[in-house]
Amino acid sequence: MNTLVDGSMAVDAGLRWNNRFAALGPSFHTRLAPHPLPDPYWVGKSRAVAGQLGLSDAWMDSPVALEVFAGNLPLSGSAPLASVYSGHQFGQWAGQLGDGRAILLGEVATGDGAGLEVQLKGSGLTPYSRMGDGRAVLRSSIREFLCSEAMHALGIPTSRALCVVGSDAPVYREEIETAAVVTRVAPSFIRFGHFEHFSARGQLGELKTLADFVIDRFYPACRETGAFDGNPYAALLEAVSGRTAAMVAQWQAVGFCHGVMNTDNMSILGLTLDYGPFQFLDAYDPGHICNHSDPQGRYAYNRQPNIAYWNLFCLGQALLPLIGEPDQAMAALEPFKTVFPRELDARMRAKLGLTDAPREQDRDLIDALLMLMAQDRVDYSIFWRRLSRWMAGEGGEPVQDLFIDRAGLDAWMLRYQERIKTIPRWDGAHQMLKTNPRYILRNHLGEEAIRAAKVRDYSWVERLLTLLERPFEEHPGSEALAGFPPDWASTLSISCSS
Ligand code: AMP
Ligand code: MG
Repeated sequence: MNTLVDGSMAVDAGLRWNNRFAALGPSFHTRLAPHPLPDPYWVGKSRAVAGQLGLSDAWMDSPVALEVFAGNLPLSGSAPLASVYSGHQFGQWAGQLGDGRAILLGEVATGDGAGLEVQLKGSGLTPYSRMGDGRAVLRSSIREFLCSEAMHALGIPTSRALCVVGSDAPVYREEIETAAVVTRVAPSFIRFGHFEHFSARGQLGELKTLADFVIDRFYPACRETGAFDGNPYAALLEAVSGRTAAMVAQWQAVGFCHGVMNTDNMSILGLTLDYGPFQFLDAYDPGHICNHSDPQGRYAYNRQPNIAYWNLFCLGQALLPLIGEPDQAMAALEPFKTVFPRELDARMRAKLGLTDAPREQDRDLIDALLMLMAQDRVDYSIFWRRLSRWMAGEGGEPVQDLFIDRAGLDAWMLRYQERIKTIPRWDGAHQMLKTNPRYILRNHLGEEAIRAAKVRDYSWVERLLTLLERPFEEHPGSEALAGFPPDWASTLSISCSS
């Protein structure tokens, strides 16, 4: 096991640190430094995330920064550690897991007081690596980097990604690949699994410490009198349920499949976390399974909302010793069943440009459309973008061309237009163009970036980042990247291997 690097080598990046998770003590983590990554090189950087942390472009371009994010030089003020958690994987209790290849460098203090944690993923063995090698491969690191930033730009709560650093160091998966480290940023990386861990072991003191920490830092309203009959832990469960419901509603609306919704991948802050075999839908197929390692389709696109609820139930069980009454835990979970459909309706109505108050028939209108799209396997994102452009009077290719059942679509369009006509002085097209992205990170685009990066060409990573940071804009010259997936896209197989 690597020991802490000599502090005298530490790099001062001008950051202020406030390492609150580290201060929770040794029951929650093991302090250790990242393992060095030989001969690192830059693969991609997000200037936006660097700016959020207070890192200047000049510093990010320095050789020292490269060594820092390779895990080769410590940042002064950081307090690196790997945290311990457990979880349910594919519906089964998996026992102890933990940061097997991630190292939390610490929490950077931000002006708003919320703080931003900085984590290296793929930085070598930790006490929680189990059978793994502690490394991540280039392909999965590029996918995580691009998707984090794409999701953020789509307005979906997510961990962010600062940069990817590569190395020629070999990593053994199904074949020999090369290592990379992606630097992730989030207010907290605490997962449902952290709570499950201490609860399963009967470490109720630690369970309470963790819950109090999360409430005080992120959910202070849970302590207000009147919040859930004065039960802050039930209030916490309810608040997490609400955020999770809102996040999954956004996934469904944009056509995002996470792929591995194990409880150890569920953020206590309702952030999209741990990008593995994720996929944005190409053709609309409600039962789509994006993860080759999930033949049963436990995490299929249309199962994501139910799985989120199942995961929240696990969190509720873990919090039960603090909540006290099972009835209260169940009551705290109950709002999910109304919040999720309400949030989803709001998102789908926004996609349709329904800017007025919801009406009962809106759900039918949405369902009828989705049924037509499923029947003809219509490209999900292209449909919404074409509809938006058409409604905005921009012309473009006809929506009708996407459907085999033209009569069905024409009938639906009539209904839709009748509905729009009921909105006085309708001007929802602008909103539609800001809701229905032109550019999404389709699997084949990620694959192009990966193939190029494998031969040291990082221009695709940069180009995709530029598009995905502004997914609602037209980017002249990149129209083809907003088009249909090529035939070979359907042969891509994305598994848990990363
Ligand atoms: P994931 O499927 O990436 O969410 O990982 C599930 C668990 O396995 C987590 O505890 C990870 O830290 C751990 N893990 C995944 N890949 C590796 C690896 N290459 N080395 C060590 N631990 C890993
Ligand atoms: Mg994970």
